[in-house]
Amino acid sequence: MPAITFTTRGGLDKSTLRQANERLILSTIRQNPAVSRADIVRITGLSPSSVTFIVSRLRREGLVSEEARGSRAVVGRQPIGLRLIPDARLAVGLDITLSGARIAVGDLSDTIVARRHVPWTANYNVFFDRIHSHLHQILEPLGAGRALGVGVTLPGFIDRKTGKVIAAENLNWFGVEAGSLIRRDLAVPFYFENMAKASAVAEMWSSQRDVTPLRDFVFVSCRSGLGTGVIINGQVLQGTDSAASEFGHVSINPQGIRCPCGNVGCWERYASDLALSERYAARVRSGQGTADSVQIAALARKGDRDAMEVIQETAHFVGLGFVNLIVTLNPEAIIVGDFLSEAWDLLEETVWATVRSRVPAYCLPNVRIVRSRHGSEASLVGGAVPGDDEFLSEIRSRLQGAPSQSGRHSRDRITYPAESGDPPWIEAEKQRR
Ligand SMILES: [Zn+2]
Repeated sequence: MPAITFTTRGGLDKSTLRQANERLILSTIRQNPAVSRADIVRITGLSPSSVTFIVSRLRREGLVSEEARGSRAVVGRQPIGLRLIPDARLAVGLDITLSGARIAVGDLSDTIVARRHVPWTANYNVFFDRIHSHLHQILEPLGAGRALGVGVTLPGFIDRKTGKVIAAENLNWFGVEAGSLIRRDLAVPFYFENMAKASAVAEMWSSQRDVTPLRDFVFVSCRSGLGTGVIINGQVLQGTDSAASEFGHVSINPQGIRCPCGNVGCWERYASDLALSERYAARVRSGQGTADSVQIAALARKGDRDAMEVIQETAHFVGLGFVNLIVTLNPEAIIVGDFLSEAWDLLEETVWATVRSRVPAYCLPNVRIVRSRHGSEASLVGGAVPGDDEFLSEIRSRLQGAPSQSGRHSRDRITYPAESGDPPWIEAEKQRR
């Protein structure tokens, strides 16, 4: 049974505690489809009467369904399993990239049920206008009840409260009010997150049904630059201004290439998809035109020697950065996304050779480097899942009236019934044993 991870911030008043318990039960049902009430009691440590009470509410609100489980050969009452009803609530992910905006609608079973694409436009007012009208078309038929909100993933350094892009060098956006220009009159909650951090959240979320869910890892995204999302003990590392874990701008060469961020020799300038393109262009010189990272990988697979050599050189620099990540964070995994995932077959050997030549062997036995299970869509999936706790708490706040900004506080106060004896389903479970 996967470990249940759960945290709250600040002191616990009665309402917060109730929400905490509800989130815990929702998480448990999500991670253990067809789980019984008795199993929820065992997994969560909540009292049987609290579980009964909360599950009844969730069923009344159309979030959870019951199903018979187990063998018909068993005499007596059949055990009842609980599941989230997938389309009871939907979340919209919006991923802003240099090649346009990707929009996905995800349900409670983590399935993407609809997609849209908005082509890139250099004038961001026009671009955001088009995105807004797509969101409007998607959200209007859902109504306020079913739409949990929109998770927007943006590149660069952002203000997570407002969605303002403070600096995204590769898009040439500085101080762009992306959040308010996209949101305008849309009444659902909006969440804003940096692309690499959202990718890390998607990976953690999707691993929760695994035997060993991910708890300490780094997601390395590589799309028009290089970004990292760090998860420590199941939490995104944000820092005081949500600007933590910008490993792409850690210098690996004090005499190196100047970076638009102001630093010199940043890892991104040596190990990203853009660095690969620049390296290839410098090698073949002009005349043959420029190639992007995907084209260079395709050339390498066809046996192009120049392409293969610049890929290996880039892989070495990717490995150098991984050395820093491993000795700094001792992660259980480094997950590679976007270009690094697509070209991992070409990069893997050199990356590992660099890592093994620089990291003591005793630091490596438990470190894996693997492709993202979402390929180049991790940030999009991360947008449709705007943070584990917040996503689930948002379900609650939608049900309890007007959504709060954080989804963490509700206004109604409900007290649990006094705990007096086991409810009937517990008795039924006991008799079966
Ligand atoms: Zn930099």
